[in-house]
Parts: sequence; C-alpha cells; structure tokens
Amino acid sequence: MEKMKRFFPPMLILIIFETVAITLWQTKDNPFYLFNFSYIGMSIALGMVLFINKYKHARRVVQLLVGLYMLVYLGLICQENMQIEGFWYYLFTGVFEAATIHYAIAKIFGPLVFGRGWCGYACWTAMVLDFLPYKIPAQPRKKIGWIRYITFAASLIFVAALFLAHVGNLERIMFWAFIIGNIAYYLVGIILAYAFKDNRAFCKYICPVTVFLKPMSYFALFRVKCDKEKCISCGKCKRICPMNVDVTDNSRKRENGTECILCMECAKNCPKGAL
Ligand code: SF4
Ligand code: SF4
Ligand code: SF4
Repeated sequence: MEKMKRFFPPMLILIIFETVAITLWQTKDNPFYLFNFSYIGMSIALGMVLFINKYKHARRVVQLLVGLYMLVYLGLICQENMQIEGFWYYLFTGVFEAATIHYAIAKIFGPLVFGRGWCGYACWTAMVLDFLPYKIPAQPRKKIGWIRYITFAASLIFVAALFLAHVGNLERIMFWAFIIGNIAYYLVGIILAYAFKDNRAFCKYICPVTVFLKPMSYFALFRVKCDKEKCISCGKCKRICPMNVDVTDNSRKRENGTECILCMECAKNCPKGAL
C-alpha cells in the first residue's frame, strides 16, 4: 500500500489532464483537445513516475516530450503561434482556442496550482537552454529583470499595431512571427547564457511570459518547503539552485520565490533530506 501511495500524484495529474481533455473535447466538439491534453498529461505523469524511481533525467524527459511536441507539432506543423504574440492575437480576435487556452492553463491560472512548473517541465525555449553548460549560475544575479516588461510591451504593441492598421493575412504573419520569435529567443538565450555563465539568464531577465508567471506563482499551491528541524543551514540548496531561490525560507516572500521552476535540484542535493 505504501508503495502504491507514491504513485498517487502522477495518477492525480493524469486524472486532472484527462478531465480537461474530455471537457474541452466535448464543449468545443474538437477531438484535438482530447489528444493534446491526454498527451501532455501522460508525458508529465511519466516524468513523475521516473522521478519517483529516482531516474536522474526525469525532468529532461518531460521537457523534451512536451517541448518538442509544442514546438514541432503545434508550432511548425499545425502553424499555431503559441508564443506571447499568438496569445494577444487570439485574445484580440476573441477566439478562446490554441494560444489562449494554452496561456490560461499553463501560464495564467495554472501557476496558482503548480507555480512555474511550465518553466521547469514544458517550455521549448528552456528545453534547449538547459543543454548549455551553466546549470548552476556562476555569477550573482543581475538587476536587469525590468527588461521583461519591455519585451512584454513590445509583443503587445506589435500585435495591437497589426490590428489597428488592418493588416491582412494575419494568420500567416503570426506563423512567421513564431518562427522569427523563436530564432531570436534561442539566439539571445544562448548568448546571454554564455555572457552571464547562467543557462537561465533569458528566463530571469528577458522572457515576457514571466510578467504573467511571476505574480501568479506567488500564490502557488505546490511549493518546495524546508523542514527546519532537519536543515543544518549548509546553504547547498541555494548554491545549486538555477534560479537563485532561497528555498530555506518557507514564507511566500522568500528571495526569488516566484522564480522557482520546481526542478527539484535542491531537494535532490540536500544532504539532510530537508526539502
Ligand atoms: S521563463 Fe520564459 S523562457 Fe524561461 S522557461 Fe519560463 S516561459 Fe520558458
Ligand atoms: S541543502 Fe538542505 S540542509 Fe542545506 S541549507 Fe538547504 S535545506 Fe538546509
Ligand atoms: S532548485 Fe529548488 S528552489 Fe531552485 S528552482 Fe529548483 S525546485 Fe525551485
């Protein structure tokens, strides 16, 4: 029974995703949603099972399964712009589909439950950046996080301008915006990673999506917590955290608390099993 209990969380995730899949399939009369959310739910549940079985690369497996699916299948083959400009585009057209559903679940309301799980397990930008050599930041955090508000505003202004100017063939423009946007994200992400010796520099300073993710994940239900009885204040968790989170502070105001991507590196490396 104790062994079975360990598998409740992946089963719960699977049930949640299947519920979303079936509800959207039925309400929108589109079997794509059944396939889409079942696939993502199964990928995450598989990753959790691998994690429970202490497989070292469990998170990377989920990241590749979900990230490649979204980038290659949804983005390149189905030509859905799932980036932030795609979200604005579908929002302005009043269509609750594709990018709007994706944003609502993964990046706006979902983080109230699973924080920035998207950033740790599904983002196709970070999927590539996490292959770079600076998994542990080699330099202190810079105070340039304000750049994210500029990229956020730029994405909004770009799409608003297309609508205001009544530009035609917006679907095609959105597809090319997805291609060019992704190339730009990868280039900037890789250059910053090497410049700052930090794989996640792009996430910390540039990514516009964090304007949604950070405030919502402040209230996240799932958080890594520290057992103060066991902790010996060795500081290892903070040293190895890719996002510089002070995970020993259990308050919601913990340093860089809204940056936690739930990668669990801190828990894996804590010598006392305090996390
Ligand atoms: S911060 Fe942005 S680029 Fe980084 S993982 Fe999250 S969504 Fe992806
Ligand atoms: S690694 Fe573990 S023991 Fe060390 S400070 Fe972090 S929680 Fe405490
Ligand atoms: S190492 Fe721990 S605190 Fe840091 S991002 Fe990963 S799960 Fe969050």
